[in-house]
Amino acid sequence: MELTKEIQEFLLNEALERFLRYVKVWTTSDEMIETVPSTKIQLDLGKLLVEELKKLNLEDIIHDEYGFVYAFLPPSKGFEKVKPIGFLAHVDTSPSVSGKDVKPVIYSNYDGKEIKFTQNKDLVLTFDDSPNLEEYIGLDIITSEGDTLLGADDKAGVAEIMAACAAWKKFDELKHGPIVICFTTDEETGLGIDKVNMKKLPKICYTVDGGEMGELEFECFDAWLAQTKFIGLNVHPGNAKNKMINAIQIANRFFSELPESESPEHTEEREGFFHLTKLQGKAEEATSRMLIRDFIEENNKRRMDYLKNLKKAYEIRYPGLKIEIDFKHQYQNMFTYIDKKPQVVDLAKQAIEKAGLEVKINPIRGGTDGARLSAKGIPTPNIFAGGLLFHSRKEYIPTLALQKSTEVLIYLAHLWTQN
Ligand SMILES: [Zn+2]
Repeated sequence: MELTKEIQEFLLNEALERFLRYVKVWTTSDEMIETVPSTKIQLDLGKLLVEELKKLNLEDIIHDEYGFVYAFLPPSKGFEKVKPIGFLAHVDTSPSVSGKDVKPVIYSNYDGKEIKFTQNKDLVLTFDDSPNLEEYIGLDIITSEGDTLLGADDKAGVAEIMAACAAWKKFDELKHGPIVICFTTDEETGLGIDKVNMKKLPKICYTVDGGEMGELEFECFDAWLAQTKFIGLNVHPGNAKNKMINAIQIANRFFSELPESESPEHTEEREGFFHLTKLQGKAEEATSRMLIRDFIEENNKRRMDYLKNLKKAYEIRYPGLKIEIDFKHQYQNMFTYIDKKPQVVDLAKQAIEKAGLEVKINPIRGGTDGARLSAKGIPTPNIFAGGLLFHSRKEYIPTLALQKSTEVLIYLAHLWTQN
């Protein structure tokens, strides 16, 4: 199957028109709130999507109490036995930058000069900010006005999935098996995916999120949280000799023993780290939070052993001091699960190539909803949505990426009919 010019044009128009509509809906999530959805405004985009899915005649459309939208696209005639697949994207945008009153601006036929933002004269977008921009000369680029983020993360993903649905409904020659659509809330706070209804999702899923054109992600960090408590002893400083055990002072010393080279600011690509995110307390007691990250679980085990040994040494060095360390496994490298079903990744690679793009495989220095789903038994690699410079006022996307990502979804669904 090859996509005709007519279909490609349809995909671009559908995805672009939807994208411009969705980014205008304010859906910022709130990391300080632990309920899902963390902000009610996320439901506004959900409601709009439900209406549009109804217009497209999808089935079993649900907007649940967590703001998740589910819908089912029945298979093409004769393809009822094909394995069902699912496509997911998230409706919320990052709380790090305002997502209110986003006004998308299109720069047609980008000339390679710096882009000046209309509502923020001091803000410019250059090749230094994003080397990809140079590859996009001659394309149409969408940015915000510079006073908000754009929201391509992940409204591009939402728009691409919706555009693919519109195409599957309109063009009978685009064969596909059963497809489940799922739009999630609170991806940015990390809490949304816990509320997913696993019974609604098929055994194979893809998130459509993040990333430059051609990107495919199926590796992420193995992630641990270490929470440490230092229990000391406070005594009047005038007669503290050989009695006081100053917890905050000792905690400070303790963390300075960690290798500086294993910190986020000194690592990249496949290197792991310790990341102290919080240290607070008094002489009597101090507490801390530390993130431990690596692509290889063994390396994280070594980091945890290091902390455990340091605890022993410090309890000897400061008699009476007590250190408690609580380790929590936050998420696992999804490669562990996806590796067992290589076809899930292989077909995605083929689909990206069929769309005429070079496949770019990048390990994610973080976690994704797909990682959590993979751990729950649904291998879920991530397919690019096409936006860049996320969570920033310089966020942008070339319109071609909206089309190409949608093409990938169409090709991918078709490839699954042959496997
Ligand atoms: Zn995202």
